[in-house]
Amino acid sequence: MPTVPPGLLADQHGRVATDLRVSLTDRCNLRCQYCMPAEGLNWMASEETLTDDEVVRLLSIAVQRLGVRQIRFTGGEPLLRRGLVDIVTRTAALKPRPRIAMTSNGLGLTRSAPALARAGMDRVNISLDTVRGDSFEAITRRARLQDVVDGVAAAHAAGMTPVKINAVLLRGINDGEAPELLRWCLEHGYQLRFIEQMPLDAQHGWHREAMVTAEEIFASLAGEFDLTEASRPRGSAPAEEFLVNGGPATVGVIASVTRPFCGDCDRTRLTADGQVRNCLFARQESDLRSLLREGRADDATIAAAWQTAMWGKLPGHGINDPGFLQPTRPMSSIGG
Ligand code: SAM
Ligand code: SF4
Repeated sequence: MPTVPPGLLADQHGRVATDLRVSLTDRCNLRCQYCMPAEGLNWMASEETLTDDEVVRLLSIAVQRLGVRQIRFTGGEPLLRRGLVDIVTRTAALKPRPRIAMTSNGLGLTRSAPALARAGMDRVNISLDTVRGDSFEAITRRARLQDVVDGVAAAHAAGMTPVKINAVLLRGINDGEAPELLRWCLEHGYQLRFIEQMPLDAQHGWHREAMVTAEEIFASLAGEFDLTEASRPRGSAPAEEFLVNGGPATVGVIASVTRPFCGDCDRTRLTADGQVRNCLFARQESDLRSLLREGRADDATIAAAWQTAMWGKLPGHGINDPGFLQPTRPMSSIGG
């Protein structure tokens, strides 16, 4: 039986995780249909949520002892975390300094973008599925399109670039809008990536037949744009990148369901209540919060627990297996 290599988050299938996704809260101010029900969810109690100090301690262990090189803050909505700017400042002070990014719905970025950029946020991905007000309200159940559009512009102006736009297409709502969204992103200098809808919604309402596939997205874009495969290798990046009309602009498609990329995965995940997940779709978690709060575990013990959690990572997410079971935690609580 091979042993866990020291100083790395390795697994038994040859992968090494260097990219850490940290959920800072499970709360959100939108209600995207593919993520949560209209009434929202029972949010995590504040005493269950890691404190800012606890988050930073785990980040320092990840960076200094486990080879993590990129940290992405997510949620829920990470901009709802009161201590976000301070957490980013302290993350940027770690040695070696990790690259710092965030996935956000953009609400509130008009106010916080300059402070986040100053604190050390390198890049942001903003979720925007449509530039039409009626589609936005149908998907997110809130009339906030202009606030998100302004937030994207604020991130761009603050230099957190390239600003990437994440879009999910829903059949019957915005499935005909892919070319329009790409046109808008090209016009503003944002990088668009489409994400296939995954079975991670709290209501368990995902149906394979209803999902808009990567194939359909390509077909819809091909009617208006000339797409050629970008020559650089995709590596561990989930998006397959294409040059638009010969480049340099690109568009990406993250085909998690129809073209899984688990073999190249370099992710490890930490939930807002301090659980390590070795995969978005994992059905088991490893509890680092208890180790932190019992007060007896030193950094080396916590690092070893994290390594053990990653060592057991399965080779793939299994969405396409007949016996697939959706994880109990929804996307908003795992951190997408
Ligand atoms: N609230 C932030 C946001 O929306 O960007 C961060 C958290 S959200 C869970 C992270 C990403 O997951 C977003 O880009 C969102 O569109 C995506 N997402 C949520 N549910 C999804 C699903 N069922 N399938 C595919 N992507 C999903
Ligand atoms: Fe909120 Fe992001 Fe989920 Fe939409 S996808 S409900 S913005 S957590």
